[in-house]
Amino acid sequence: MSGDLLQELFAGRHLVPSGIDGLYGRGPLFEAVVTRLEAMIDRMVSADGAEVMRFPPGMPRRVLERSGYLKSFPDLAGAIHCFCGDERAHARLLATLEAGGDWTAATTGADIVLTPAACYPVYPAVAAAGPLPPEGRLIDVASWCFRHEPSRDPARLQMFRMREHVRIGTPEQVRHFRDAWMERASGFAAALALPARLDLANDPFFGRGGKLMADSQRDRQLKFELLIPVGSAERPTACMSFNYHQDHFGQAWDIRAAGPGGAGAVAHTACVGFGMERLTLAILRHHGLRPEAWPAPLRTALDWPAA
Ligand code: ATP
Ligand code: ZN
Ligand code: MG
Repeated sequence: MSGDLLQELFAGRHLVPSGIDGLYGRGPLFEAVVTRLEAMIDRMVSADGAEVMRFPPGMPRRVLERSGYLKSFPDLAGAIHCFCGDERAHARLLATLEAGGDWTAATTGADIVLTPAACYPVYPAVAAAGPLPPEGRLIDVASWCFRHEPSRDPARLQMFRMREHVRIGTPEQVRHFRDAWMERASGFAAALALPARLDLANDPFFGRGGKLMADSQRDRQLKFELLIPVGSAERPTACMSFNYHQDHFGQAWDIRAAGPGGAGAVAHTACVGFGMERLTLAILRHHGLRPEAWPAPLRTALDWPAA
């Protein structure tokens, strides 16, 4: 594929425009790749013994607040608002709508927000289950996620799917998990015949203080990404990420580690995230829109049905 990737995907109905940048429908080829990638990840992790948890794409507002998301990424967050008025308020809403005004002013914030990353609902759920077992916990989670970052880059969506593995335990358990996944990721990209490299990264912390937080995150090597060229060769896209949160979520939710040397200490956490749309786009960008022309090893890795 070449030229404007987004236009090409629209033209082939692989992505379906909505009029809003980063909010698209998906066509049959796109969805088939997502489904087969999910199954490939299932096969890859089946021996890990992770507990499966699935949450809806909305979570309690309280979870966003207590996680510190609004301190770091207020610009990316999305909250749900609902109309809770009486009939007179309804009539005013309709009049505002009729006049082309902002009817959303008649709504109030609900107690649900959109999930910004699949792992956020996991921490309160784990905290509620009491102290960790000595071996810690490993959780397999997936969710549609929302981030308010409209863009014409097809790899930067406002609503997208994230699959994550979340490790909660002692610093040693958690670091070992993240390091092992960084090794595993290169094999995953190779199986998909995708050019990839790992690099140190940082999150886009908001505001003036954000630069300091980003620098500190880099100094402490807390975030790595698996980069694959999608929209641009010079600025490859993060298709997976490897995040060590230290005791951030452990503190926020009062999760306590158990096990040798760790009893009672605040748990550390890490998560490994797969961007399902980004991986799909990487496959379509590098191998084209005709699965019958894909390299045989890729078709085998995805267990793609014979024509
Ligand atoms: P970027 O640096 O490109 O903004 P990120 O650091 O925000 O990515 P994470 O917060 O680590 O990404 O999210 C986990 C995974 O979710 C990423 O590795 C990526 O594959 C995917 N992802 C993140 N943001 C988006 C988005 N806007 N659209 C599609 N996929 C995304
Ligand atoms: Zn996460
Ligand atoms: Mg981002």
